[in-house]
This record gives sequence, C-alpha cells and structure tokens, in this order.
Amino acid sequence: MNRPKEEQNRLSTVLAASSARNDHWRQLHAAAASWALADSDEKGRARRTECARLMADVLRIEHCWAYPGRRLLGAMTDALEHQEPATFTRLVQRVSGALLSGDFRRDEQIWEAAAEVEGRALDVLPPDLGGPMARRPYFEVLVVTPSAPAEWTRSRDEIVRMRRVDDAFQYEVVHVGSFEDAALAAMVNGDLQAVVLIDGFGYASPHALPDLKEFLSRFFTPEEDSVKPGALSTRLADALHKLRPELDLYMLTDRSPELLAGSDEAAPLRRVFHHIEEPMELHLAILDGIKDRYETPYFDNLKKYAQRPIGTFHALPIARGKSVFPSNWIRDMGQFYGTNILFAESSATTGGLDSLLEPTGTIKRAQEAVARAFGAKRAYLGTNGTSTSNKIVVQAVCKPGDIVIVDRNCHKSHHYGFVLSGAQPYYVEAFPLTEYSMYGAVPLRTIKQALLNCMAEGTLDRVKVIDMTNCTFDGHMYNPRRVMEECLAIKPDLIFLWDEAWFGFARFSPLHRRRTAMGAADALSRRYRSAAYRKEYEAWAAAQKPIDPKDPGAVDAKRLPDPDKVRIRVYQTNSTHKSMSAFRQGSMMLVWDDDFHHVEGPFEEAFFAHTSTSPNLQLIASLDLARRQMELEGYSLTMRMTDLAVRLRHAINGHPLISKYFRVASPEEMIPAEFRSSGIKDYGEPHASWVEIVRSWDEDEFALDPTRLTLICGAAGFDGTQFKGLLAERFDIQINKTSRNSVLVQTNINNTHSDAALLIKALADLSREIEERLAQDGPRARDALAARAKSLMTDVPDLPNFSCFHEAFRENSKAASNEGHMRPAFFMAYDESNCEFVRLASEEIDKRLKDGPEMVSANFVIPYPPGFPIMVPGQVITEDTITFMRKLDVKEIHGYHAAQGLKLIKPSVLAGRKATSDQ
Ligand SMILES: *Cc1c(COP(=O)(O)O)cnc(C)c1O
Repeated sequence: MNRPKEEQNRLSTVLAASSARNDHWRQLHAAAASWALADSDEKGRARRTECARLMADVLRIEHCWAYPGRRLLGAMTDALEHQEPATFTRLVQRVSGALLSGDFRRDEQIWEAAAEVEGRALDVLPPDLGGPMARRPYFEVLVVTPSAPAEWTRSRDEIVRMRRVDDAFQYEVVHVGSFEDAALAAMVNGDLQAVVLIDGFGYASPHALPDLKEFLSRFFTPEEDSVKPGALSTRLADALHKLRPELDLYMLTDRSPELLAGSDEAAPLRRVFHHIEEPMELHLAILDGIKDRYETPYFDNLKKYAQRPIGTFHALPIARGKSVFPSNWIRDMGQFYGTNILFAESSATTGGLDSLLEPTGTIKRAQEAVARAFGAKRAYLGTNGTSTSNKIVVQAVCKPGDIVIVDRNCHKSHHYGFVLSGAQPYYVEAFPLTEYSMYGAVPLRTIKQALLNCMAEGTLDRVKVIDMTNCTFDGHMYNPRRVMEECLAIKPDLIFLWDEAWFGFARFSPLHRRRTAMGAADALSRRYRSAAYRKEYEAWAAAQKPIDPKDPGAVDAKRLPDPDKVRIRVYQTNSTHKSMSAFRQGSMMLVWDDDFHHVEGPFEEAFFAHTSTSPNLQLIASLDLARRQMELEGYSLTMRMTDLAVRLRHAINGHPLISKYFRVASPEEMIPAEFRSSGIKDYGEPHASWVEIVRSWDEDEFALDPTRLTLICGAAGFDGTQFKGLLAERFDIQINKTSRNSVLVQTNINNTHSDAALLIKALADLSREIEERLAQDGPRARDALAARAKSLMTDVPDLPNFSCFHEAFRENSKAASNEGHMRPAFFMAYDESNCEFVRLASEEIDKRLKDGPEMVSANFVIPYPPGFPIMVPGQVITEDTITFMRKLDVKEIHGYHAAQGLKLIKPSVLAGRKATSDQ
C-alpha cells in the first residue's frame, strides 16, 4: 500500500496502533453512513471509493485481533464489492461501536449478531454458555502456525469446542502465519495474554506493512540460524518475552519436547507440548496461566474473611463495623465507607490474613507475585509510602561510616535515611535547568568523578551505595544500564538504590522498561554471564592499566567490569499509588541483589524498625490488585498513556493559538545536547520516528519520559503556583508540581482522551482571553505581559549547589570528595543551647558571609518547590544559598520560619570539633 512518506514510520503508527485503529473505524463509519445517504450515482461512486480506501486502511493490521475476525470482515468486503451501502453501514456501525465500547469482551450478542448478519450458524458460544461472558474476564490467544489460512477457521472452532461451563475466563483465538505478524500482533493487541507457537512457520508477513516492518526489525532481528528448523519459534519466543514478559508462551513442536524443555531456549516458555497431544491440555494450561496472574492471594482471602461470621475480641473496635453501624452518632461513617471496608478490617493475623512483618502465607505469595511481575528477585510490600521504603533500603544496606554517593536533589526520605543509618552522604549535583528553575539528573561523569575522588582519598572501600532518582519528578530518565556498568568497572560490588517512586508502571511498557532499575539489572546480569562478554572483557582488559584516579582522563575512560568480580546489587522503590491502582502510601521495594544473603538480616531489621505493627490491610490488598492489573493489562494501559502524552505534546505545541502562550518543554529543551547524543529533539510528529526514539532511549545518557509534561506558562504571564490555582478553580484540572514558570502535567494509566481534550480546551480558552485583553488594552497591556513573562522566564534565581559540610563534620576537609557526618550535626540541634538564629533580612548574614565565622545549618531546609533540601545539617551556608532564599517566593519551606530566621549551629560549639570515621 502506498502511503505518503511523512505518514510512514511515525511514532504513532505503532505506539498508538490500537487507538489509531479506533480512529480508522470511526472514520470508516462516518464514510459508510454518508455512502448510504448518497442521493446520486455519482456521489455514491465517490463515497464508495472513499469507503474502499478507508477499508483498506482498516484491513492493514486487522488480522492482529480476534474481533471482528475474518468472517465479519469478509462480509463487509462483500457488501462493499456488491454495492450494498445499507448492509455495509450496518456492519461497520456494529463493529466500530463494539470496538469503542469494548462490548465485544462482555457481550456475546455482538459476536452473535455478526454471525446472524452473515447468515451462518451461531458458532461463537454454545447455548449453555449464553450470558456468562459478562462475568468472565475476556482475553485473546495468539496462535502462530504454519498451517494454511484456509484451515484457521476450523482450528478456531476446535478450540471453541473445548470451552466448559466452569471455565473462569473466556478467550478467543487470533491466528497468524509468520514471525512478523506475530510480533506485530503482540505489539498492537493489548488483549493478548498467551501465545501458542506451532513450530514450522515462516518469517515474512504476507501483508504490506513497510513502516511497521522497519520498526519490527529494530526489536526483532532474525539471525542466520533462523533457517534451522524450529529456531524461528524459539527466537520468536525470546523476542516476545522481551517485548511483553507477562505473556504466557506455549510451544507445540515435533522436536523432542523433553529435550527442548530442558534447554536454555525454552526458558521463556511456560510449557512445551508435543504436536499430537490432547488439545484439552493446552486449553487448560492457557486458563491456568491466566489464573496465576489473576490470583491475588491476599485480596482473595480478605474477601473471604469479610464474609465469615466472626466474633472479635481484639483491638480495633471498627472491625466488622461493630462500633459503627449501631452508633447513634457516627452512622454516616458506615454509610459512606460501606460495609465491605469495615468487614474487611481486622487486627488479627490469623484466618489467612498473614503478617506483613513475618509473612508465611498470603502476603508471602503476594510478594512473590510482585517479584515475578516486576522482574525482581524479591519484593517487599510497603505500607507507609516510598518515604519509608527508601529509609528501609538505606538502613538495610548502610551502616555508620559508609559513604553514599547521592543526588542532592533526591527525596528527603533519603537524607533522613542517612541521619538514621549514620551513613555519610557524598552529595553530587544534577545538571541545572536554570531557565525553568529545575534540576535535571546527575551526569554519569559526575558520579564517576565522585568514585575516583574517593579512590584517590583511599576511601573507595567505604563507598557502599549509589543512590539516584529515576525518573525525576520532571521526567529525566537515567540510563541505568550504562550508569551501573561504568560504576561497576570502578568498584564491582557497588549497591545501587534507584528511587523509582514515579516509575513503577515503566516495567510494563517495552519502551520504558529499558530505563528501569530491574530492567537494567536483568540486562546486565545476562550480559556478564555470557561468553561473548567474557571475550569482550578479556580483549579489552589485555590493553588496560589499573585505574589512576589522579589521571584527568580517568573519568572519561569507558571501562568494563570484571565478569569474575562483578555483582549485580540493585534496589528499586516504587510508589505504587503514584502510577498504579493502589491506595495512597502503597509502595514496593524490589530487590535484585546477588549478595542478598548478606543483606537479608539487616533488611529485616530495617523493615521492623520502620513498619507499623498494624499495617493497613486494605493497602496491602490494593498492592496485590495493582500488581494483578498491571500483569494483565499494564501493557495496553502504559502504551495508551504514552500515546496520549505524545498526542497532548503535539496538540499543544502545534496549536496555532495555544502555542503563542504555552508550550510543552521538549527533550531538546529539557536535556542538554551533551547528554543527548542521538540528537533527538521532540516527540510527536514530525520529529522522531519510533526507530529514532528507541535508539535514543537505548543510547542517550538521559531521556525524557514523554508522560511527564512540563507545561511552560511563564510566557502567558502566569507563575506556576498561580497557574495551578487557575486550572483547579476554573477548569477542574488538578496538577501537583509547579516551578517558577511551569506546571507539570502527568498522564497516567487512568487518563482518557476526554481529559486531554479538557486541558486543550482550557489552554485555548486562556489563550483567547489573553488575545482579547491584548487587543482591547493595546500596547500598554502588551508591554506589561512582556515584562511579566521576562521576569518569569529570564530573571530566574540561580539554584544553589551543595556547598560543603563544615570541617567539624569532615574527616579530611582537604579532600576533593565532600562526604560528611550529617548525623552528629543533626543531633547537635536537639540541644537548644547549641543553636542560634539569624534573620534572612539581617545585616549579620552579609557580615558573616564576608568576614566569618561560617554559618552552619542546624537542620534541613526544604522549600516546596523545588522540594529538595537546599541546606542539610552541618552544611556551610554560602552566598548563593542566601541569595536564593531571599529571592524565593514560595510559601512552604520546611525547616525554616521567617520570624525566627535560619537555625545555625553556634561557631563556639563547632570550634575544635574533630570528625572521625567511627562517629
Ligand atoms: C513521592 C516520592 C517519594 C515518596 O513516596 P511516598 O509514596 O509519597 O511516600 C520518594 N521519592 C520520590 C522521587 C518521590 O517522588
């Protein structure tokens, strides 16, 4: 099919294939309706041609879905060919309606109606199954087969006959005949949950899909050995597993299944069957695979618990609503929350409710399911937010004296974690985005330089952890694979803590996954175990000298970790509630640590130290459910949210009116060129194709998560806080993060096209109002807006870097590394006589900045925004921090009260204090 060049290879072609599909069907429906209404032959012919063109568009990738299927599509093509506009329109209307509403998943009528229209026997559901579809979750199974398409209908009917009344789930089958079509179907069809690979199919698709093929070739490279019998199916299994690890893969083969099943090639396969085996076995295996993911051990049990008659004599009067429903005064509590939540409350750990602190039953199984779903070796559920999960991990892996190289901008829970554990933070700086008064992320070079500085000081053995935020609030994603590889080449047993509070969903998007901690741990683990890596390493190592940390070139040298020494030690924390369907505070700690046997004891201690002995049951259940949802529909949800975000970017930046006053910052604006070697400029048309985006996400040091949109409102004369208020009051649009001249718009798995439309409408209304005002008020208004925009967009206060710890908290105040003892500084402030206050406006500050004695912060000072500490206990306060504080116009500053002033540690207390490593 000939498509205009610019239409080929667009990001949206693949990313949005399923929403583009709905659009195509909608267009076809409109065209069909207009054909049916044509009042002259000439119009009829023209409109039929249009229908035929759109139908061809629809048919391009329609073979990837079970509904509407070959028969119904055939009937439509017939109606088109035989000039039957009424029939054609009726069919199109039914199908497009069912696709948009998703009713084909619930309502057998829609499938039946299709059969009736074709004048064929009802063949979808035996009558005894009539009705239950609505109650059974629906999915699709892809069968990749060498058999001729003519046989596919018969094969499908065979499978349909295996359905039983008590099946817990219901599925339909999609047949394809090639590697390419299978890969395509797995990419575009979010209803797929299982794939059956029947040995012997070929590589190339018979369909003309030049744009998609180019993309496919990026994900799936057929290698020479794919001509070997059977090699193609194991290669496809491998590729599908990489694309969507949650899919259940089955293989039917003539090769000796016993031999295959034991080989590495079969690792991604759930089961291997011999061709001639009983098909019922396969049917049951498929249902069983879904059950494994559907099962929510904790939630299922909690539901059962809520239904049992139980007398409670434990704490928690509200359990089973007993103090609520009979009450004269809090009856509305029961009415509002309903019975279930109260019946599901208990303080018992018996009856299968298990104990979060020592799980042996349903919580243990829920955690194992989380580990499987998120690609970790182990998982722990957290019920006090990632704020606590971070403290648990920090305290589990650090002891007093250990050094942690940490992003100074990380969430405050990390900083508090260092106070608690006695670890010494070595603060490193993210690159600044001064124009938007934000920070990006920490360059790899900075992290490596910190390691080399410690090596030069002889303290490298004390560097225990690298602690970074991935992705950042504003959407900067690290390249964790590269960061870890290059750091491990300097110290092979480093532990990495990746705070992925925002990024839990990323596991389920094949685009984002490569930038997650667990995704990188998996990739590196495979790499270092491979024979190819050993060869690469040995060839490289032969020409290498040991690292000289004082050599200025050392930081830029790209080294490789020794495969015999390297350990994969990765911890990832997620605020499940931020990106998935968990209640607030639901969090997960994911572990891939080759040396976890050394950490398990301390981890348990840290978990006990921070976890309530009365964890919230509903929260644990919601984590279980969030996992189920992502394992079954995370792929389509994350693809949809990414698509929506890209469309939103395009709609705003491409809008003739809106773009005069608002814009969404592009990767080019958010990531300096030196960290963006691919040169990618923006998402959305006409900038980057899928292929380019995947390449940039594979290779660039930083990439921008498109789902986090920095919407710049300064040019419209609004500061971030003001604009946030305006969106909430006038348009019912809620956002949470602002900077001086921008707000952050996040798309999430819950967002719809209507949400996007609401935002676009709000921006268009506001832009129109500005235009009107400028037109009415003339040049004065124009100048005023320009001046306001300038003050918001250019006169931005410089963000201060971390200065240093006072020498009283440094073991070696001459060292190039900056780690310091924050804990003693923190506790000094507990004794009021150690502290003094200076007002920000006072002259004393300026005098002390000039002549001393140095001012040393007694506590954390954290303004919101930006939300990270600009002072930490023991830090020397420098002029740029004071300037920043004085210009700061935010209301909420934790650790600072304007009336009192800055809280400092008195110079007399610091005089003569010596820091030693055992503090
Ligand atoms: C929100 C957030 C946290 C804290 O998570 P909660 O679940 O709100 O406690 C930690 N780190 C980062 C980067 C965050 O964005």
